[in-house]
Amino acid sequence: MLLDVDGTLALRGSQQPLAGVPEWIEALREAGIAVSIVSNANPGRVKPFAKKVGLPCRFFSLKPLPWGMIKAKRSLGQCAARTAMAGDQFANDILGANLWGMKSLYVAPPAANKPIFPFLKKLDRYLLKRYRRALTHRKDEKFDG
Ligand SMILES: [Mg+2]
Repeated sequence: MLLDVDGTLALRGSQQPLAGVPEWIEALREAGIAVSIVSNANPGRVKPFAKKVGLPCRFFSLKPLPWGMIKAKRSLGQCAARTAMAGDQFANDILGANLWGMKSLYVAPPAANKPIFPFLKKLDRYLLKRYRRALTHRKDEKFDG
């Protein structure tokens, strides 16, 4: 399992994990799921947070480009099909995971989270709307069949 930081595990720039995050990470560990942080942020932001929550990390990952996600997946000893990326941005986390054959888990960012690039928030809103519409359409197909 690969985890984004800003807007997923913490508010952007905060070293304080969101409520429930330490317990969730512990539950993943107890379930035998290997976990790593994969962030586009700089090492000064990511490393102290990763140390605080006890996870390995990749920074400057350039999601949705493959390198950071693929290196992190390999360091966990997993193939893409057995890896999931959890994150709050469609344009980075979700697109990247799907481009490189991983599963993706969209995490709605907390309302207090301030994205570094506001235009990405608008793009994410648009993509989330389309995604929800596609899910509704799929549901309708199931019910029809
Ligand atoms: Mg994020």
